[in-house]
Amino acid sequence: MMLRRLIACTTLAARLLSAPAGLCAAPLSGTLFVVDPGHGTRTVDGRPLNLGAVGRHGIAESLVTLAVGEDLARLLRQAGAHVVLTRSYTKPWRTGRLVRLDNRARAALANRLHATAFVALHADASRNRKAHGTSVFWLRSNSVRLAAAMRAHLRALDLGESQFRRRNLAVTSEARVPAVLIELGFISNPFQERLLATPAFQQRAALVLYAALADVYARS
Ligand SMILES: [Zn+2]
Repeated sequence: MMLRRLIACTTLAARLLSAPAGLCAAPLSGTLFVVDPGHGTRTVDGRPLNLGAVGRHGIAESLVTLAVGEDLARLLRQAGAHVVLTRSYTKPWRTGRLVRLDNRARAALANRLHATAFVALHADASRNRKAHGTSVFWLRSNSVRLAAAMRAHLRALDLGESQFRRRNLAVTSEARVPAVLIELGFISNPFQERLLATPAFQQRAALVLYAALADVYARS
């Protein structure tokens, strides 16, 4: 039975026989996601170019986004998706000349690969230490559904919401495929910084992002 379900999820012919929703072993097979852990870019000669924010306790945004990105990639792959990470544990640093061009290149990769969707991961920062909450940004209309799903699932993190709106950013304007930029909370808020640093929270955040992607792109 299990084998049949596996087959049912991986071949077109069996797909037409329709695997029962929720029982499919690979609900995201046939999809490809570009997951972009924000920042982590150096110049060719090794100078820091785009390091991201660092919290008062020394937690670096670029490490948080990398951990959540890797966790998210693992969940997506387990569900049968192909995942391309713009940074990974094996290659944590990107090389670039200009921040904006490097950010555009991340989204351009998703376009080139005809990705199902592009997900950029960040953590927010503000001079106001009390600023808190998650944010979802998108630009094109093909991203609205994904943005709404992200917003709905991010509520489970209980961090509150900072922003949810269309926004012309390097990655959202470059991306032609559905694209969202997620701020996972404020690294400048001491409470949220501590949370963002814990593997348990990072895994929970990845699960929430996965649930949103599965909501929109899993086979029903
Ligand atoms: Zn950032």
